[in-house]
Amino acid sequence: MKSHTQVVVIGGGVVGCSVLYHLTKAGWRDVVLVERDQLTSGSTWHAAGGFHTLNGDPNVAKLQGYTIGLYDELEKISGQSCGLHRSGGLLLADTPARMEWLKMAHARARYLGLETALMDAREAKKLLPLLEEKYFVGAMLDAADGNLDPSGTTHAYAKSARIAGAEIYLQTRVEELKPRPDGTWDVITAKGNIHAEHVVNCGGLWAREVGRMVGLELPVLAMEHMYLVTEEMPEVVAFNKEKGHELPHAIDFKAEIYMRQERSGMVLGTYEKACVPWQPKITPWDFGTELLTPDLDRIAPSLEVGFKHFPAMAKAGIKRVINGPFTFSPDGNPLVGPVQGLRNFWCACAVMAGFSQGGGVGLALSQWMVNGDPGFDVWAMDIARFGEWATRSYTNEKVRENYSRRFSIRFPNEELPAARPQQTTSLYDLMIAQGAVMGDSWGLETPLWFAPKGVEPKDIVSFHRSNDFSHVKAECLGVRNGVGVTEIANFAKYEFTGPGAEAYLSRLMTNKMPRTGRLILTPMLNPAGKLIGDFTIAKVSDERFLMWGSSQAQKYHMRWFEKQLPADGSVRVRRYDMGLVGLSIAGPKARDVLQKLTDADVSAKAFKFLEHRSFDIANVPVMINRVTYTGDLGYEIWVAPEYQRRLYQEIMAAGKELGIVNFGMRALLSLRLEKNFPTWYRELRPIYGPFEAALDRFVDLGKNDFIGRDAAMKEKQEGGKLRRVSMIVEAGDADVLGDEPIWHGGKVVGWVTSGGYAHYVDKSMAQGYVPRELGGDVGNGAFEIEIIGDRRRATVITEPPFDPQAQRMRM
Ligand SMILES: Cc1cc2nc3c(=O)[nH]c(=O)nc-3n(C[C@H](O)[C@H](O)[C@H](O)COP(=O)(O)OP(=O)(O)OC[C@H]3O[C@@H](n4cnc5c(N)ncnc54)[C@H](O)[C@@H]3O)c2cc1C
Repeated sequence: MKSHTQVVVIGGGVVGCSVLYHLTKAGWRDVVLVERDQLTSGSTWHAAGGFHTLNGDPNVAKLQGYTIGLYDELEKISGQSCGLHRSGGLLLADTPARMEWLKMAHARARYLGLETALMDAREAKKLLPLLEEKYFVGAMLDAADGNLDPSGTTHAYAKSARIAGAEIYLQTRVEELKPRPDGTWDVITAKGNIHAEHVVNCGGLWAREVGRMVGLELPVLAMEHMYLVTEEMPEVVAFNKEKGHELPHAIDFKAEIYMRQERSGMVLGTYEKACVPWQPKITPWDFGTELLTPDLDRIAPSLEVGFKHFPAMAKAGIKRVINGPFTFSPDGNPLVGPVQGLRNFWCACAVMAGFSQGGGVGLALSQWMVNGDPGFDVWAMDIARFGEWATRSYTNEKVRENYSRRFSIRFPNEELPAARPQQTTSLYDLMIAQGAVMGDSWGLETPLWFAPKGVEPKDIVSFHRSNDFSHVKAECLGVRNGVGVTEIANFAKYEFTGPGAEAYLSRLMTNKMPRTGRLILTPMLNPAGKLIGDFTIAKVSDERFLMWGSSQAQKYHMRWFEKQLPADGSVRVRRYDMGLVGLSIAGPKARDVLQKLTDADVSAKAFKFLEHRSFDIANVPVMINRVTYTGDLGYEIWVAPEYQRRLYQEIMAAGKELGIVNFGMRALLSLRLEKNFPTWYRELRPIYGPFEAALDRFVDLGKNDFIGRDAAMKEKQEGGKLRRVSMIVEAGDADVLGDEPIWHGGKVVGWVTSGGYAHYVDKSMAQGYVPRELGGDVGNGAFEIEIIGDRRRATVITEPPFDPQAQRMRM
């Protein structure tokens, strides 16, 4: 066994072996994998081995496509068969809503370059004669679906890694991980110690326990999962004989089952509602390759529906029932990447679909380790997307919710109830009392919209415009015609202090730092010149800066900020989290409200657009930014949490005679749309450059050197490949949601990032990316956007439909 190595990968399941292989592929050869028992001896060995590309996040879907395409390469390099069956798969819709969902998935597949086809139930039956046509309205065929041999595939990764120089130590449990001051690790095993520069947690069923070795409580939980394998079925034999190929895979969303052919019978697995976590507190180290006791009663409701939908299955004999555990994160996507607050400690765990995702996870993580960047947009599986609020019991509730909803539709306006409310501000009960419908924003309850008296404060979930439409409109009009107040506690807030703070921020950000008492808006780039942040920064004093950004990205950004801190201690960064909360007042009468609450001069002359001040409002010490995301006259007011309730009540009292309205996040997002403002993680993501995203005025290439400047300069000179555009859409009763394809000249040329109804200007709007050459095509209806299967005319606009001269913000 080596005593020193560049990387120790802990865990020899499919994920650990993929990470090991990809590290060698990325050029690191001095790498080892340490396995407690034998390869595959966690959840990998008893997997059903199915793979598919479908994922709610298009970027994860792309990485799944990569995984599935990789198997031929692995077989070639290793000489080891993966036991591939590329049979294709059918997703079966039992309701019109599910069919709409499939239409959207099909549309998305178009711009991802995936091969899918929609069909009615009759055509589906031709492909899969086992199904009873009357229970289905249609289906989508995904040509990339298939299944493989889990053990063969894991060994193919391992052999390929070994060929490239990696070493694998079996029967060697990692017992302890000790950090050294230089950021390297002593990996303590039963068979001796290894000094490693990096450690990767691919512990699968024990990922939580490996995390605990370094003081982490990872949001990961194992669930029991059952599938049946039938005896030979005459219907299957007959099909194979007649067609000369296997039956396709199938997912029956109504029955919550998946199925595929296995020899001359079928495999049938369930994601049952009455799901059960496995070892919710500690996974025993001596758990071996044993199976759990099956509990057919638990999956009986799914089987009952399944047997009705596939009558031949009801007659088939059951050869065996597998019940095994595998792990999930609270949202079902993997936990990948470096862990904020630790040096050289990486995770690749909670991979619930190892044979669809393992390759993509290995590729992204290896590039991240070797090049400092995953090379893709991996936000949907970045471990940084969960905050401290994702505790063990939170994870337990959310994982159970996610598992039991695995085959349920998540509507765009659907807020899931498990583990809520997790965090609330002091305004929570006041908001609820005023009819607020709350949403979860990075673990915090945040008002989405307000139901007026007599209206039930509840969303009717739909892909179409829903019951909130007229109420959100009223909130938008209330702001634009008078004044509104909204809670913005969910924004991320940071403080940078110290003699080096200004130079540090200037090196990280594309814009010039503000003068004292002023604000700037600025993107942040990675070395490749892609967008990794978008912030508002205030200079409070020479050695103190405040910064606001996207709530979801707080750990993601802290990880980057910490990585860039100078070693001399001249800069300190802190995340306020709920230590600083806020309210925003906006609209042409916002100043009148503010002036009633303070003796400070807040006139247009004394307190200008993009200025930052600290004074008292209604006895409450606050910090105020003269800016709002509504694009209107407005203020963001920041206070310590103990003052927030008083502040809100005073604002409401002062605003009463001016007709002040509450407005929620949905109105805020509508208001920003008619200003063409982008949003983080929709329009602004690490796959776009700042000029592609039309952020030109926030990038100062002439100031000091900053991270990503050379790449940004190149992008500017060459123009970039894409262009962010805003469009007016001739929509019906459904607006864009994001991820719809954009058509031009009969071809799919781009994709929608976000959109909706811009209530004040009374237009359906979309933002998205198209090739640069087409970004300037402002011809009436030159583009089309596919909304739930219908191609709708869309026209690019060059100016925001509301206040194009930006006078309202400056008034
Ligand atoms: C019944 C069932 C059916 C499934 N069907 C499918 C399917 O059809 N398609 C699909 O894609 N996925 C399926 N899965 C899920 C799939 O099995 C997992 O996604 C996959 O196994 C995850 O692999 P992993 O490497 O992350 O974890 P694991 O396989 O659990 O591997 C972790 C490894 O780490 C080792 N380890 C842990 N701690 C230490 C330590 N301290 N020191 C040394 N070694 C350590 C363990 O021994 C283990 O070998 C199924 C799972 C089950 C249970």
